[in-house]
Amino acid sequence: MNLDFSAEQEEFRAELRELLDDRLPDDWVGIFHGPDEYLELSFEITREMASRGWLTQAWPEEYGGRDASNWSQVVFQEEAWAYFEPRGGQYMGVNWIGPAIMRFGTEEQRSRFLPRIAAGDVQWAQLFSEPGAGSDLANLRTKATRVGDQYIVNGEKIWTSYGDFAEHGVLLARSKSASERHSGLVVLLIDMSTPGIEVRPIGTPLGKHKLNSVAFTDVVVSADSVLGTDGDGWRVAMAALAFERVGVARYARSTRVLGELERLPEAGRPEHQLEIAEALASARVAELMSYLVVDLKERGEVPTWEGSAARVHNVLLEQRIAALADRMLGPMAMVDSHDPAAVEGGEIEDFVRLAPTGTVAAGAYEIQMGIIAQRGLGLERIR
Ligand SMILES: Cc1cc2nc3c(=O)[nH]c(=O)nc-3n(C[C@H](O)[C@H](O)[C@H](O)COP(=O)(O)OP(=O)(O)OC[C@H]3O[C@@H](n4cnc5c(N)ncnc54)[C@H](O)[C@@H]3O)c2cc1C
Repeated sequence: MNLDFSAEQEEFRAELRELLDDRLPDDWVGIFHGPDEYLELSFEITREMASRGWLTQAWPEEYGGRDASNWSQVVFQEEAWAYFEPRGGQYMGVNWIGPAIMRFGTEEQRSRFLPRIAAGDVQWAQLFSEPGAGSDLANLRTKATRVGDQYIVNGEKIWTSYGDFAEHGVLLARSKSASERHSGLVVLLIDMSTPGIEVRPIGTPLGKHKLNSVAFTDVVVSADSVLGTDGDGWRVAMAALAFERVGVARYARSTRVLGELERLPEAGRPEHQLEIAEALASARVAELMSYLVVDLKERGEVPTWEGSAARVHNVLLEQRIAALADRMLGPMAMVDSHDPAAVEGGEIEDFVRLAPTGTVAAGAYEIQMGIIAQRGLGLERIR
């Protein structure tokens, strides 16, 4: 099996790196660190990459893509994640919101929403989690009550990434009685400026704008906003989550950070040399596990447990590298990009600070292990 990228794909990688080296400031560690202008900068760069046709290469031409293979898209994902995501939160549109709309949307929804994602011009939000419904998502209480050709939405969502500047949201709500759990759900594509939607930022160490709560009070949403069919929301949301879990090339940032650690004077100590070597081998495994999932996508399949397996390996690797950075650098690992003394312009600090969130976001570690056990290994659910 040949796992090398083609000469053309490597050429594209070099061109992309050149653009990112040229356009991203030295202290860039993503939109949540640095001055407010970095958010606008991320939109500018994303539009520029989109205008070169780079953003959605694997999408069909009719929706703004190039009909390229998923592997060309992988090159883009690897570089984008290694460069601390120049697209900001727009990666969600390309990675899983677009694919979910492509799979479940009506023709009208596809032609309305997909070209703008492909143009790098729109931020979406994922409105799934609620105060009492994270891992147990089917416990959600936000109601979408059908009245004629509209839904009236009431409830509260939480941990909504990018919610305070998102233009659109993918909302999972209950349209039928709570006793129907999985079969009583609907997914709605909503305009975040609709009256009755109130977004409140939640202060966390992840940075401003990152997490929000979103309250819905008698929000009117047209019935043609349903993604898939009413009652089938669980299946739509699970497919969307499956795309989400595999969309980010996390191993690429891990490999970059490991390279940075390898160049530090502390790396010369024998105990660190061994740890770095082991982590590099593990990063390669994470990469290959992710490639297995890309291969499934390339064959038109929706990954389930395979995506969870790749995700678990990737996020555990991040935590291992973060712990290694702590051991090598001590308190210097926590000096952020605002300080000129920050190691690698603050990249190490950002990596160390975010590493714990990987085993919670997009489905907690234990939930992913449950998916692997049941869907992958065929084990029975015991509670
Ligand atoms: C950085 C970040 C970004 C996020 N962005 C979004 C977003 O944009 N949109 C969105 O909708 N949500 C978002 N989330 C929320 C995320 O999906 C939830 O935090 C996650 O699903 C866990 O839910 P919870 O926080 O309610 O924790 P809980 O479900 O309460 O879990 C708490 C702990 O209990 C464990 N646990 C729960 N159930 C089980 C079980 N059955 N078996 C074993 N252990 C269990 C969990 O593993 C976890 O360790 C984000 C979270 C983070 C950290």
